[in-house]
Amino acid sequence: MKNLIIAIDGPSGAGKGTISRALSEELGYRHIDTGAMYRAIGWLAIHRGVPFDDEAAITALASGADIVVEGGVVAIDGHDVTRAIRTPEIDKTAAAVARLPQVRAVLVARQREIGQSGGVVMEGRDIGTVVFPDADVKIYLDASEEERARRRAGDSAHSGGPVEQKAVAEAIRARDLSDSTRKASPLTLAPDAVHIDTTGMPIGEVVDRVRTLVKDRTPAS
Ligand code: C5P
Repeated sequence: MKNLIIAIDGPSGAGKGTISRALSEELGYRHIDTGAMYRAIGWLAIHRGVPFDDEAAITALASGADIVVEGGVVAIDGHDVTRAIRTPEIDKTAAAVARLPQVRAVLVARQREIGQSGGVVMEGRDIGTVVFPDADVKIYLDASEEERARRRAGDSAHSGGPVEQKAVAEAIRARDLSDSTRKASPLTLAPDAVHIDTTGMPIGEVVDRVRTLVKDRTPAS
């Protein structure tokens, strides 16, 4: 069977992580969370005291960094940052470094290297538009702002504890704005992506939809 490249894009809290994980397990594919790569660079910038707007310095950090984002573990230069990158501070830092075109160029090149042989579910903001414009399956997951905030507020692995949904909603709105209005590869729906609004949809139903799409694109062997 052909090893497909499956691109899953969308804003924060749309369900990309849950769906990508479930799908990759089912297909025996690798799951690559590209957001974790931007988060890890943000973490390293803080760790090394590099200002987020110093594009040359952050690009040098990204070029030299050893980043691992597979098997549920995120590590950068030997530091296990799996939990440390899921904080409101890193939400903002990741979005700030993701605005820098040269940093994106470094990470996009890595993502292409990792995914080019296929057998991969890659999630992010620009996978179907920039990283793999010829991906076999392109899905754009979305949900209402309210529902995305509710999911994020209930995700203690992300917030580290109970947080107010209103504060989460504000933070999500700010990040959506940054991600969709930046000059370099803004978050946008690829014309050939299948748009799924997951508002009010149980996870199992979303996985069913995605599974059917993947099946339709899988050539019979
Ligand atoms: O998906 P996640 O919320 O972990 O992504 C963190 C941030 O990384 C996003 O807000 C976005 O700014 C950036 N990102 C990106 N391109 C990707 C994945 C994430 O710009 N492919």
